[in-house]
Amino acid sequence: MNPLKTIALLIILLSSAILGFGALTSMPEPLKQKSDNLPIYIHNVAIVDVIAGRVLLGQHVLIDDGRILDISAVELSPEGAEHVSIDGRNKFLMPALWDMHIHTIKNSDLLHFPLYIANGVLNVRDLGNTCSWSSSQGCVAPNSDWQALVEKKALLGPMQWGQVSYHMEELEGSDITEALKSLRGSKDDLLKLQLSHDTTTEQFQSILDQAKNAGIPAAGHLPGNLKLDELNLSNLNSIEHDRAFYSYCANAAIDFEERVSVMATHTNSFDEAKCASLMQGLKSQGISYTPTHIASSVQDINIVKPRDESKPHDKYIDSITLGLWHTYAWLTNLGFDENDKASFQKLKETSFRISKLAQDNDILLLAGTDASDAYIYPGFSLYDELALLSQAGLTNIEVIRTATINPAKHVKAEALLGSVSVGKQADLILLNSNPLEELSALTHIDAVIYKGEHYDKAELEDMKQYTADVAKDSTVTAKRLWQLLFE
Ligand SMILES: [Zn+2]
Repeated sequence: MNPLKTIALLIILLSSAILGFGALTSMPEPLKQKSDNLPIYIHNVAIVDVIAGRVLLGQHVLIDDGRILDISAVELSPEGAEHVSIDGRNKFLMPALWDMHIHTIKNSDLLHFPLYIANGVLNVRDLGNTCSWSSSQGCVAPNSDWQALVEKKALLGPMQWGQVSYHMEELEGSDITEALKSLRGSKDDLLKLQLSHDTTTEQFQSILDQAKNAGIPAAGHLPGNLKLDELNLSNLNSIEHDRAFYSYCANAAIDFEERVSVMATHTNSFDEAKCASLMQGLKSQGISYTPTHIASSVQDINIVKPRDESKPHDKYIDSITLGLWHTYAWLTNLGFDENDKASFQKLKETSFRISKLAQDNDILLLAGTDASDAYIYPGFSLYDELALLSQAGLTNIEVIRTATINPAKHVKAEALLGSVSVGKQADLILLNSNPLEELSALTHIDAVIYKGEHYDKAELEDMKQYTADVAKDSTVTAKRLWQLLFE
């Protein structure tokens, strides 16, 4: 949409919504999970073994009480007459997907959660919730309440790993102490770092050390001008975003800044051997890496060339959010010159080389999208991230691991999640074709099994339709506008 039209639309929406606010009806009810609590028996299915990287044909899988009770090459007999029976012939059963870098908003329970489940994304890591950028003291994000409801099946939503309601962007010494004190008091279990690129090595080490003393691991963006070989990064849980590595994998003589021209100078002097040795160092310190290629790609796809038509998934996004995305794209585009625009392809290629080196050096790579930032659609965009990881040179099984067993290992839950194995939770997806042969198989989900409940194709489509309806709901639109302006 034309940016001026977008702004005009926003103004019209603003006036009409505020005028009508007093007369608003109540918000839609969030969806609940099913609670049938019946055993599930899947006959004759092919199991995608994400650990060994192979497919086991003709398997029979028995699920009860949310767990995988048995897997066998011969028929099993479910206890009790009543159970859900699924014909698994020509179907492929694999562990559910994870998105390891998302952001929630106040209405994520209505606008995002059903999309995650419908796309088989049953686990997420929220790296910045509704309180993260809030200056209000005592801001309480709804995430803990949502999690409690999800656990008892009273809300349809993914399991959340990590609670981050504070973004550390400032360097003031007192802020660090205060922040860590308040994090200890809250339910946060991760310190999100988004420090400026002029952060010194000593300052960064001090933050990591203080966080370690407070018992809270850190995760986030890596400032671009550190002396990494002088740092002890053992309290750094994961590094987020491809740009974090541009300066450390290059020989450019200028300081790193997140301006396209500066990033291009760095990527033009990319040094493969230097980058590989950096990755070996990170591997030895047990640091995971979430490249979020899709978050960089939207710059190229939607901002350098502003879109002039709507996209299929826009229908799941409320008009206030969509208007914000278009406005952001328009304003960002104004800040790029022709050289900048021409540099994005090179940045992308460099990001791919970095991910491939991370994979080849055995770094735990995590699939993450940055949903629901501009043009990143909860659930759907994970497939785009996986496709980009494939373009980076990862094999299909390596790509699949970034969204299954790797995240489970990262959060130390691989005993329960991340693969189809006896004793693990039955959080699974059923596909119509083999994802080891074609990654696009992941976009054709036939069914989701979550907390021991079976959701068939029609039920998954209903979840998407629910979100499309909520996105159009005038009460939700007014509420989103109100939050934007006044909260
Ligand atoms: Zn983010």
